[in-house]
Amino acid sequence: MRHPKQARQLVDRFGRSVDYVRISITDRCDFRCVYCMSEEMTFLPREQILSLEEIHLLAKCFTELGVNKIRITGGEPLIRRNALELLQKLGQLPLLDELVMTTNGSQLVQTAKQLKKAHVKRLNISLDTLDAKKFKTLTRTGDLNIVLKGIRTAINTGFERIKINAVILKNRNHDEVADLVQFALDSGIDISFIEEMPLGFVDAHNRAEAYYSSDQILTDLQKQFTLEKIDATTAGPSDYYRVQGSQTKVGFISPHSHNFCSTCNRVRLTAEGQLLLCLGNEHSIDLKTALRSHPDDTDYIKQLLIDSMHIKPEKHEFNLSEQPIIMRHMNSTGG
Ligand code: SAM
Ligand code: SF4
Repeated sequence: MRHPKQARQLVDRFGRSVDYVRISITDRCDFRCVYCMSEEMTFLPREQILSLEEIHLLAKCFTELGVNKIRITGGEPLIRRNALELLQKLGQLPLLDELVMTTNGSQLVQTAKQLKKAHVKRLNISLDTLDAKKFKTLTRTGDLNIVLKGIRTAINTGFERIKINAVILKNRNHDEVADLVQFALDSGIDISFIEEMPLGFVDAHNRAEAYYSSDQILTDLQKQFTLEKIDATTAGPSDYYRVQGSQTKVGFISPHSHNFCSTCNRVRLTAEGQLLLCLGNEHSIDLKTALRSHPDDTDYIKQLLIDSMHIKPEKHEFNLSEQPIIMRHMNSTGG
């Protein structure tokens, strides 16, 4: 619900208003998922990433300009030191309706309760396979059992909604889409399938060859489940279906096959303090420099945020058969 004091001031050239910010609080991760990172990665030195205080200040500015939903992501957000303290402070922002998080689930056993206490409403948890060996191959360092325990803990903690995110790659995990939906059904949670995006160079597979479309996944699922289309009620990139006779929603995020840019309502803040106006373009504003050269001048920062809307691109163009045009990896962008 919008607060009476909260005018929508972030409106771009195409009339889209931005009320949702995704904040990557670290580029580091305990996993090295094959679609997200190369095996060898260099991470940012500490002084180059925003401090927790800087992130909080920017989040506050955003909410005062009409943003009412913030997603904390990464890298793996829960491995940043004092992430929980930040979440607690964000959860108290008076104009924020929804604080949500995307996580790989590796730290949820220890943190789920505190996340709930910090007013994190909903969690997206990444899970691409239910096979422990494949999980190790896809994440390079992850342990499926720990993540499954984390998901179970989160379910028992009572978040408003838990959704699995699964990136589907041909010949790696495309044969598991029905099992993943069954897992969501059995657990009473939702699931979204994501088409791989060409962000940064990855060395484990050829992205064009690994492409597996949302339409193909839907066809595969319809052999086993009756899926009812849900009319889109929120601005967002997902097409949603409900598994007949259940509460479980199945979403499809299809940056290649179904362009979702015309309803885009979001921007992203990288761990380094770049405001990205579009996931699939380089248009950005350097908020870290602005913040550090104008400490405490929130009016200056807010004007910069308002002005940044002029460079929000109309849409993204992804081409899987070419080398990536966007050199940043998903871990720095935050998904
Ligand atoms: N580490 C957390 C996690 O994995 O959930 C949060 C950050 S991760 C970058 C956010 C989401 O982006 C995850 O669901 C992940 O599967 C997805 N992702 C990463 N690289 C991707 C890519 N190249 N294409 C599509 N989705 C990607
Ligand atoms: Fe880490 Fe998430 Fe990227 Fe996997 S997708 S490497 S868990 S940031």
